[in-house]
Amino acid sequence: MMDMATETLSGLRINGQRLWDSLMTLARIGATPKGGVARLALTDLDREGRDLVVGWAREAGMSVTVDRIGNIFMRRPGRNPALAPVMTGSHIDTQPTGGKFDGNYGVLAGLEVVRTLNDRGISTEAPIEVAVWTNEEGSRFVPVMMGSGVFAGAFSLEHAYAATDTQGRTVRDELQRIGYIGDEEPGAHPIGAYFEAHIEQGPVLEDAGVTIGVVQGVLGIRWFDCTVRGMEAHAGPTPMGLRRDALQVATKLMQEVVACAHRHPQADGSNHGRGTVGMVQVHPNSRNVIPGEVKFSIDLRNHTDASVEQMAQDVKAFAQTLSKLTGLSIEFKLVSSFSAQQFHAECTEAVARAAARLGHSHMPVVSGAGHDAVYAARLAPTGMIFIPCKDGISHNEVEDATPEHVTAGCNVLLHAMLERCGKVHRAH
Ligand SMILES: [Zn+2]
Repeated sequence: MMDMATETLSGLRINGQRLWDSLMTLARIGATPKGGVARLALTDLDREGRDLVVGWAREAGMSVTVDRIGNIFMRRPGRNPALAPVMTGSHIDTQPTGGKFDGNYGVLAGLEVVRTLNDRGISTEAPIEVAVWTNEEGSRFVPVMMGSGVFAGAFSLEHAYAATDTQGRTVRDELQRIGYIGDEEPGAHPIGAYFEAHIEQGPVLEDAGVTIGVVQGVLGIRWFDCTVRGMEAHAGPTPMGLRRDALQVATKLMQEVVACAHRHPQADGSNHGRGTVGMVQVHPNSRNVIPGEVKFSIDLRNHTDASVEQMAQDVKAFAQTLSKLTGLSIEFKLVSSFSAQQFHAECTEAVARAAARLGHSHMPVVSGAGHDAVYAARLAPTGMIFIPCKDGISHNEVEDATPEHVTAGCNVLLHAMLERCGKVHRAH
């Protein structure tokens, strides 16, 4: 054994064709006619996908363990077994009309890192593990990010086991049925650091023409249901001055939800505020009746809990003024709240350094969507690598990414992980 010269190491590259072929092979399991993938969590297809990936891991000399929520950990030993593994991974379950890359890329990029190290006879000080987290999508079983959530202690194993699909089948029964209910206690597994490669699922990188997104963290979220109550009345006989039109008041408030997201730029000029009204119910929803009641959803996001809270306060203050002005009641109900998660500087910097060393354009980005890395970040220093996806579209059968970007992201993953693995050696 010898210490690898820095030049040798910096010349190390993954096999992009092999990674692409693996992605396309896995995408055949549950392939849809429109070129997407439907491989819902804990179905027979999920089992087939898991079996394929686990088989590949064993061929690459990795040992495989499964925990009680069905998370799979595929391990390549390090020279020092006492060190916590440097972990990467993602999920292979998809939406009903999902794509080939969401989640699958993170798992197979991890496998490609291991295959590359095997090819070159390179050993690392810390072990390397590739995780396949159970039910990230939350499409068949709620909550989302179930496997990583149980692993991080965000909710209990019993809570996850009890979740049922529309047919009344439970997570526990389905895990049992597909043979992926392991005996390892979730969370018993140490993590030294965690990296996850993922398609961006948004349009920022493509718009900027940049290859690598250095993910700084995941946006915090507040979900409200809002109800505006007026008085329904005939559209003809009721003069404008005597109306209590709930929709006219509601639309003013909806405008404010979006305006307040525009108003929250950061010190560095970037703006991670997001304000969305995606669901509206008008009562009685009739052409010639003044709307008496409007219910709508509010989705607020920002990169710190303080800034998302400030947005919520702004919207509520606006509603209060509006209510006084119009005499209509406006009610808010908090439906869900997710904390913002900043990633660890050591990991985000490792990703940025790797991208720079490899000569890839890169920029700091935030993730507007949740990922398994959010829960991993509660346990260990964590970072994510984004690559562009076509037109920013994901959770859709047309989801696409280029082989060049897929390769670039995996190379960044390789070098960021090696940096965290400590001394790297190559066999003679
Ligand atoms: Zn995903």
